[in-house]
Parts: sequence; structure tokens; C-alpha cells
Amino acid sequence: MQQKTDVITNKRINKNKLEQARAIIAKLQIELPKYIARGHGPFLAAIYDPDGHLIAKKANRVVLGKCSHHHAEMEAISAAEKNFNTYDLSKYNLSLYVTSEPCIMCLGGIMWSGIREVYFGVPSKTVEKITGFDEGFKPDWINEFKRRGITVCGNLETSVGEKVLRDYVKQKRTVYKPKRK
Ligand SMILES: [Zn+2]
Repeated sequence: MQQKTDVITNKRINKNKLEQARAIIAKLQIELPKYIARGHGPFLAAIYDPDGHLIAKKANRVVLGKCSHHHAEMEAISAAEKNFNTYDLSKYNLSLYVTSEPCIMCLGGIMWSGIREVYFGVPSKTVEKITGFDEGFKPDWINEFKRRGITVCGNLETSVGEKVLRDYVKQKRTVYKPKRK
């Protein structure tokens, strides 16, 4: 059953900006199955500069790279830092767009990177319900980001995003995670 999820944000986002973010997330959701078919995990992230130029676009490659921190957001941040040859992206006023809410690790990665704005698709609770991934404990993260001057806006284009995740599970692709005791 499909449920409508309300947009969540920590700052007033103007209508144009919101439409632009929806369009970028929708495009990422539509592109994502092509990456999944090549063995990537079901998450895709892109970083744009304020003029709308694409700086980095990366899919999750935990399984392909045999590395637990190769999440889409971390990969995109690494590529952007390499692009600008810096560990601090703050002066470039970059925005990160990702098909699902960032996990506990990626929130840390975003916080340390100097990314200014985060837009995401499917919320973690839904990701966990559909796939079984453990997105981690993230108490009040949207307000914590606000306190650090990072704009957050999420739950964008969730129905197409949820379908991609359901298909990932249907195709019996790897839900990579450590064994718990
Ligand atoms: Zn992550």
C-alpha cells in the first residue's frame, strides 16, 4: 500500500528550489536501476554547485568495492573533495541530493565535509521496512544539522524511490550488513 509522506525540512525552502530538488531526486531514482543492474547498492547521490553544475554523482558500491563505507553519499563527497582538492567544501556552497535519507555514517560524513544543503528521497524508516538495512540511530539529526547551518529537506519523490527499493529486494540483491549476535 502506498502512503503519502510529508516533506520534512529545517528551513523554509522556496517553491522553485523545492521543484528543482524534486526534479533532481526523481532523475536519480530513475537512473538508479541501471546502477543496480551493474551490481551497485540501491542508493545514488549527486552533488551540485549553486549554479546547477553537477560536481559528482556516485552510487553505493559496498558490494562491488568490498568496503562497508562505500555508501553513495561518502563516494560523492570524496569525489567532490578530490575535484576541489580540499577537505573543506564549505566555501563552494554545495548541495547533496540522495535517493534515500542518509544513514548514521553518512550524516557524519556530510557534517565533516562542509556540504551546505541536503535533499533526500525515501526516509530511513521506510528504507528499513522495505529492505532490512539498518540505517542507525540518528536522534534529532535534522535539528542538529540546522544548528550547524546545514539545510535539510527530505521525503521527496518517495513513491518512485520506494519502488526501486522494493525491486532491489524482489531481485534478491544483497542486503549487505554485518552479522549481529
Ligand atoms: Zn550511508
